[in-house]
Amino acid sequence: MKFVADLHLHSKYSRAVSGQMNLSNMSVWGKMKGINVLATSDFTHPFWFEQLKNELEDTGKGLYQLKTINSKQETEVYFLLSCEISSIYSQDGKSHRIHNLVLFPSLKSVEKFNGELRNRKVNVRSDGRPIVGISSRDLLEIALSADEKVLFIPAHIWTPWFSLFGSMSGFDSLEECFGDLADKIYAVETGLSSDPAMNWRVGNLDSRAIVSSSDAHSLEKIGREATVFEAEEVSYDSIYHAIVGISGRQVVRSSGNKKPDSPNTRIPDNPGSKIAFTIEFHPEEGKYHYTGHRDCDFSQSPEETKKNGDRCPVCSRPLTVGVMHRVEDLATREEDVERIDKNGVRWVKSKADRPPYVSLVPLAEIIAEVENSAIKTKKVFDQYQTLVNNLGSEFNVLLKADISEISKYAYPKVAEGIDKVRRGDIKIDPGYDGKFGEVKIWSTDSKTQAKESEVSDESQLNLFA
Ligand SMILES: [Zn+2]
Ligand SMILES: [Zn+2]
Ligand SMILES: [Zn+2]
Repeated sequence: MKFVADLHLHSKYSRAVSGQMNLSNMSVWGKMKGINVLATSDFTHPFWFEQLKNELEDTGKGLYQLKTINSKQETEVYFLLSCEISSIYSQDGKSHRIHNLVLFPSLKSVEKFNGELRNRKVNVRSDGRPIVGISSRDLLEIALSADEKVLFIPAHIWTPWFSLFGSMSGFDSLEECFGDLADKIYAVETGLSSDPAMNWRVGNLDSRAIVSSSDAHSLEKIGREATVFEAEEVSYDSIYHAIVGISGRQVVRSSGNKKPDSPNTRIPDNPGSKIAFTIEFHPEEGKYHYTGHRDCDFSQSPEETKKNGDRCPVCSRPLTVGVMHRVEDLATREEDVERIDKNGVRWVKSKADRPPYVSLVPLAEIIAEVENSAIKTKKVFDQYQTLVNNLGSEFNVLLKADISEISKYAYPKVAEGIDKVRRGDIKIDPGYDGKFGEVKIWSTDSKTQAKESEVSDESQLNLFA
């Protein structure tokens, strides 16, 4: 069976996160999106951790479920214990700021891990995504000692300010960052501004799974990226083995005929589990795809940066180097992918043994462009809900439902928009220096397009609750 997981989001206890992000709302929205496994997020926060203990029950499979299930809607969404930690530290005379995801199969392991952070006087109260002075390597060691089955995943690895490979804050390889424990990193997260094809170009990532998740700070952003697993059951072990198994296979492959019992070779206990595919944002839509200065309204591609340098022509300070440029810096090979159209959906496949992916635009964005209105408005949400209620889930609408079926519940132009998104027939102004890229499904409409930023986030959020 296939199941969809979103392994990175945040609760209301993280900074700049909607007050609506509680377990029950997350579960309702997970279901609408078509997600089966949602990250709890933020388990280091004492108040949130209390809620996790009170509101969730163990399914016996390394995943948790809401105790009080109000409606059938919530029954199929499982929670996976997770948090994101921001490590800020110096190493070899350089300062680093790196975000890592930590996933555990049990509350007991979380207790142990949280206890160890408390022993080290980490301030876990001020933010659901705590800042620690512990290096990424040492944090991984602490996580492994709490539970050797931890999944420790460097988050949004290309963003400039807070990531493993970040141009302003990171390292050039997993080994530099994690040292002797680098082989315990089984997966990395693409982040919104990169897609798997960009990551496949980097030899240092060859033996790691590439996962995608939303990093949602509000309910409607849940699932804007996700990882789809294929396994016999929905469980922590299925996810663990799918991720570790991929690294295992790749290590065996890239190092020739290594003996199966060699310490570097990870053979999955359950070879039936794998990552089936990932669901991606178009990387151009991410906030850091291009290099530029937001305040100076200036951005450029990696080719332009090569030609014109990385100083801003407006203010002459150094530009914020974007993800695409950084990938160029660390890439060891050219892009080598196949684009395959199946049932009207464009899939991107690696020529090596990698799970394929599909790039989508969130349904509410498609409807908003048709309606020529902001995303967080009632008329957009009404149409969103009609489609999702009648056709199962947002992923069903975006990926599977017949266009003729969609037309029964939506304006013809919305159906046409979904069809265009499936085929990749859209235009995007790339994002840069913290400014999201802008999708245009119909390029002629661009002038009158309403922007999300024109609507106050908080005042409109209630429409989605
Ligand atoms: Zn982060
Ligand atoms: Zn995050
Ligand atoms: Zn500037």
